[in-house]
Amino acid sequence: MEKFKGENILEFTDKFRTDLECFEYLAEIKWRNGFKCVKCNHSKFTIRKKNFARDCNACHHIESPIVDTIFHRVRFGLRKAFTIVFEMSATTKSLSASQMAKRLKISRTTATSFMKKVRISMKSTASQPMIGRVFVDEFVFGSKEDLKQGRSNDSKKKKLIVAVEVNDTGGIKRVYFDQLENYSCKEIRKIFDKHISKSASIKTDKWTGYSPLKKEFDLNQIKSDKGNSSKEIHTVIHQVKSWLRSTFSWVHKQHIQKYLDEFSYRINRSIYKDNIFDLLINRMMSTQKVLYQDIIISK
Ligand SMILES: [Zn+2]
Repeated sequence: MEKFKGENILEFTDKFRTDLECFEYLAEIKWRNGFKCVKCNHSKFTIRKKNFARDCNACHHIESPIVDTIFHRVRFGLRKAFTIVFEMSATTKSLSASQMAKRLKISRTTATSFMKKVRISMKSTASQPMIGRVFVDEFVFGSKEDLKQGRSNDSKKKKLIVAVEVNDTGGIKRVYFDQLENYSCKEIRKIFDKHISKSASIKTDKWTGYSPLKKEFDLNQIKSDKGNSSKEIHTVIHQVKSWLRSTFSWVHKQHIQKYLDEFSYRINRSIYKDNIFDLLINRMMSTQKVLYQDIIISK
């Protein structure tokens, strides 16, 4: 089975017409480097027609393609699960859980719980820090319409920070967000340590919380002139706010980071747009199964 490419919904539905075709796709990912029985190490097998599971020829242990992956125990059908992954990766904005539930005729709880699992796979591994030109800025997100940039100590608002890496022509390369408890240097530096290389050329506003970081980072503080300091960063802030508002009826403090991770995932892989679905499916296959209890705990 060839790997699925692109963003075309018609090609997508043509490729995955049945749950069985999705099982076949996952089986090929799982055993692309060959099969080895987990019980006895034997490498010869028979394929089960029902779900492309491998039946070991020596000990007859049967391994399903989805065991110990995020697709484990997906009860509403793999084809619907694939559609959720497609919507969340290949489309620009994705959907809310209730929209997804209506489209796929599943319960809202089911959609919510599976979308949480997908977001776990979308979380950055923080393995490739930003190296080029990077802008960092803080912003708040509140329940009420709030287009204000900058800091606010309103306790009801979520305090956030964004780092945007731009290319030579000013285009957005990558974006990361972090949720802050407050605007102290200790909180602010978390996004630096996680996502920004010491060799990056960084610009921030004049907030004193950034100043101590100058010792370790190539950091320039420039006066922020009501949103004109970096066009790119304000575009990103505007986009993420409008996505959050249009997709979620209420953004809880405990969930916002996961939504921001989802948003970053799509932006950061937009240059690989052709392969974004396949990349995410591959990640989900290598992420250990996430049980319902884990999701409740990780809220
Ligand atoms: Zn075996």
